[in-house]
Amino acid sequence: MTGADDKIDVSEIEELTPPDRTLMGPGPSDVHPRVLRAMTTPLVGHLDPSFVEIMNEVQELLRYTFRTDNQWTIPVSGTGSAAMEAAIGNVVEPGDTMLVPTNGYFGGRMASMARRAGGDVVEVDAPWGEPLEPANVSDALAEYDPDVFGFVHAETSTGVLQPNVSELTAAAHDHDALVIADTVTSLGGVELRVDDWDIDVAYSGPQKCLSCPPGASPLTLSETAMEKVLSREEDSRSWYLDLSLLEGYWGDERAYHHTAPVTNVYALREALRLVAEEGIEQRWARHERLAGALKAGMEGMGLEMNASDEYWLPSLNAVRVPDGIDDGEVCAELLERYDLEVASGLGDLDGEIFRIGCMGHSARPKNVVYVVTALGDVLESMGADVDPGAGVSATRSALEE
Ligand SMILES: *Cc1c(COP(=O)(O)O)cnc(C)c1O
Repeated sequence: MTGADDKIDVSEIEELTPPDRTLMGPGPSDVHPRVLRAMTTPLVGHLDPSFVEIMNEVQELLRYTFRTDNQWTIPVSGTGSAAMEAAIGNVVEPGDTMLVPTNGYFGGRMASMARRAGGDVVEVDAPWGEPLEPANVSDALAEYDPDVFGFVHAETSTGVLQPNVSELTAAAHDHDALVIADTVTSLGGVELRVDDWDIDVAYSGPQKCLSCPPGASPLTLSETAMEKVLSREEDSRSWYLDLSLLEGYWGDERAYHHTAPVTNVYALREALRLVAEEGIEQRWARHERLAGALKAGMEGMGLEMNASDEYWLPSLNAVRVPDGIDDGEVCAELLERYDLEVASGLGDLDGEIFRIGCMGHSARPKNVVYVVTALGDVLESMGADVDPGAGVSATRSALEE
C-alpha cells in the first residue's frame, strides 16, 4: 500500500492498454471509431458560442431519435441512471403515488428512486421474462389511482420488449397518470415513438443502442410533464438533477448550472449523427435483422431463447443456459479465449440465462457470427449438448436472406 507521504513509482502503473474486447453484453456496446475520434477533439468552454451551437444540434438530433417534438429534450450529465433519476426525481413529488412494474431489475430501480423522491410505490405484477399485460395495468391504475406510471420498454435484465405501449399510455392517461418510460435499451435500437405513443417522459443511456461511451444520457419530457415539474411545491431533492434549474442551461438562457461534460456531448453528437445518417427506421430494421441472425444461430445450435417471439428484444437476447452448464464459467471463458463480453443473468433469472447484446455498432454481421461461433465452441468444450456448426449455418442463412 502506498500512503500519502510516499513517492509513487509511476513506472509500475503502466500506460493504459485495455484489452481489445468485443462488447456483446448488456452495455456498453462497441463504440464507432467516428465517436472515439470526436472524443479526441479539443475542448471548448461549455458556454462558448460554438458549444451552444453544438447543444442545439444535439437536442435536434435527440428529438429525431426519440421521434418527438418535445422542446424539453436534453442529455443529462451522467449515465442512464442519472437521466432516470432526473425523470423520476422531478416528476414524482412527495406524497405522489407511482405505479411500477415487477417484471425485471429496472422496475425495481424505478421503485427505489420513487421512494427517495418521497413517493409511495405501488406495483403491477408480471413474472421476470414476461411483459406487462395491459389488462393488469388497467386494473392497477383503477385500484391505486397513481399520479405516475413507469414501465420499462426494453428490459435489459430479461430480454423482454414491452409490446402494446400505446395501450398502456392510453390507460394511464384515462386515469390522469403521467407515463415515464425507461428506453435505455430501446432508443436507437428498436422501434420507439415517443409522440405517437403518447409517452410523457422517456429517458435513455448512450452506451447501449447508441454505441457511445457512458456520460451524457438522453431525456425528453412533454409540455404536460414539464408543467408538473415547474409547478412543484417542493424543490426536487437533488440539486444537480433539478430540471427547473437545468432549464436555465438547456433552455433559451444558456446560463451556468454545472459544467457540461463537453467530451461526452461531442461523443453523443457524433453517435446521433450516425443514427440520422443511417435513418432511424433503417436502424431499427438493422437491429432486427442482425439480432434475428444471432437468435437463429442460438436456436440453430440447440439453445432456447428465454422470451417468446412476440416480445423478443433484438437489442438484448436472453438465451437459456443449457443443463449442467455454469453460466459464470462460460462468460469467463469467452472473455479469456475470445476477448468477448456477454453477461449472465441477474435477479430471478440468475444462473438461468446469458444476456447477449446486439446494440448499435455491435449489431454487425462480423460480431454476430463471432458470438455464435465463440459461444458454440465454449459450450461444446464444456460438454453441453449443442451443435455449433448448425448454429453458424443458421446465422449465415439468416444473414443471406
Ligand atoms: C443500463 C440500464 C439502465 C441504467 O443505465 P446506467 O447507464 O447503467 O446508469 C437503466 N435501465 C435499463 C433498462 C438499462 O438497461
